[in-house]
Amino acid sequence: MKLNRTHVRDLARQRIERLFSLANQAVKSDPRLANRYVSIALKISMRTRVRIPRELKRTVCRKCKAFLYPGITSRVRVRTRRSPHVSVTCLNCGTVRRYLLKRDY
Ligand SMILES: [Zn+2]
Repeated sequence: MKLNRTHVRDLARQRIERLFSLANQAVKSDPRLANRYVSIALKISMRTRVRIPRELKRTVCRKCKAFLYPGITSRVRVRTRRSPHVSVTCLNCGTVRRYLLKRDY
């Protein structure tokens, strides 16, 4: 089979998704294994220049690259002070990410 760029990127996309779903399954019993899956997914993404979808990107700590799972490796809170947002704290390194909640007028 000829492996051209499209094939490679398609394979990469599939593998990244698979690695994230494996991380989801592994995080409860072994968070370090989940982090390993994520780091492999990030490497594939960089090498093949395939973007990681936003919803998956939000499950990775920006600072320490740990896999974030609410209640296990991250703390998720809805905050109403200042502008309403969801704060996600990485329980590995303590980095906080904030996601603004859009209001409907
Ligand atoms: Zn972190």
